[in-house]
Amino acid sequence: MMNVYNSLTRRVEELKPLEGNEIRLYTCGPTVYNFAHIGNFRAYAFEDILRRVVQFNGMKIRQVMNLTDVDDKTIRGANAAGVALTDYTKTYKDAFFADLKKLNIQPAEVYPAATDHIPEMIALVQKLMDKGVAYQSEDGSVYFKVREFPGYGKLAHIDFDNQRTGLRCAADEYDKENVGDFALWKAWEESDGPVGWDSPWGRGRPGWHIECSAMSMKYLGETFDLHTGGIDNLFPHHENEIAQAEAATGKEFVRTWMHCAHLRVNGEKMSKSAGNFFTLRDLLEKGYTGREIRYVLINAHYRTGLNFAFDALEDARKSLSRIDACVDRLARVAKTSSSGDSASRLPRSEFSAPLAKFTEAVNDDLNIPKAFASLFELVRMCNGMEMDAEAANEALGVFKRMDEVLGVIFFENEKKEVEVPAEVQSLLDQRAEARKAKNWAESDRLRDEIAALGWAVKDSRDGQSVAKKG
Ligand code: AMP
Ligand code: ZN
Repeated sequence: MMNVYNSLTRRVEELKPLEGNEIRLYTCGPTVYNFAHIGNFRAYAFEDILRRVVQFNGMKIRQVMNLTDVDDKTIRGANAAGVALTDYTKTYKDAFFADLKKLNIQPAEVYPAATDHIPEMIALVQKLMDKGVAYQSEDGSVYFKVREFPGYGKLAHIDFDNQRTGLRCAADEYDKENVGDFALWKAWEESDGPVGWDSPWGRGRPGWHIECSAMSMKYLGETFDLHTGGIDNLFPHHENEIAQAEAATGKEFVRTWMHCAHLRVNGEKMSKSAGNFFTLRDLLEKGYTGREIRYVLINAHYRTGLNFAFDALEDARKSLSRIDACVDRLARVAKTSSSGDSASRLPRSEFSAPLAKFTEAVNDDLNIPKAFASLFELVRMCNGMEMDAEAANEALGVFKRMDEVLGVIFFENEKKEVEVPAEVQSLLDQRAEARKAKNWAESDRLRDEIAALGWAVKDSRDGQSVAKKG
């Protein structure tokens, strides 16, 4: 049973599909005007863990992540660079997908771009106009009338009824009737340059919030299971999404809302505007790997703040090499005799205890730090055990099962990047023969020859292994 914290009810609740065996998930995606920073990737890594845990529990997932490719920032960037909006955003869309791969984040099922869904957004705004919950102001923009939607504030748990008078007074200097009203459609302005679409309210472009309501309902239906984002999305973005969708359909929009806490630097939210950010590329250039960065991003509970520090990346490197050493040994031992495919067999009892704890942890509101603790329990258990091929295979099966959620372990066939050249492999084979014949002088000579080619040989009770030096 998978339990998660629902921001809407402020309770931990069971997550089970509204229909069939599939969880329908909408995640707010990137605004493609720049490279995403690792704060953004904390949110995407959390959503990746979420989708992996859903699948770990035998449910299917249908995830939709939007790409915001039209807003103030993208328009400003494109016009400043003197290029078409689509050309400008393409660079950052491509970079985003490359970065997701580096972090081993599973792709969503659909990545709708806002500019491909303008008719759907116009139709939704029209529906809200027809229902009398939206109005066009003198400047030509269309706004949502917040006071016409009684549930406004239910996600943020704010009682707007008691604040309305104040809001109305403050609204005098705006084109809006109420300062809380938000734009559904923004009238074209000089600074928009060539960007704009025709609509029943004149030339303009959609507001950010309507994007997500229109695209989520198009791909997931009017009511769906789960909606996520960083905590900064909760208000007003997600509150507004609920208002738009529920005012238009009269139905519940989303059952469960989940939000991750921020990645911080020295106690402050990592953000473009604060200028305190690292992109994934910045960290890769410093020599850290996508796997190490993923480890740091997921190894803090998603609802607690995560303070970014380079020490954490160093610790991740050490932890991962402990896992690698254990899994490499198991893989070597597993090959020592053909004991058949154990993946389908239930793990032996020693290994089922850490797996049970792991399962309990991930199902308890995605407690990944606790899940890692069970994984290291398994590492310690294996390191302290004499292994035969069968046991090694079974332990490997448990690591593989855990890695369906974590996505940080390299199993043998995934180590393409450290493929051993044929020349080195041939020397290794000769050395194995020499050692079998107890010809230690020849074994040492071959070790030096291998070292001269840039590879270091290590001997252990399970045989020899090789790693690239430096
Ligand atoms: P944006 O491109 O700013 O719309 O943000 C994309 C996603 O990243 C949203 O889900 C944000 O809530 C999330 N996000 C932005 N900054 C951070 C941060 N420092 N830590 C965690 N999530 C963030
Ligand atoms: Zn959104």
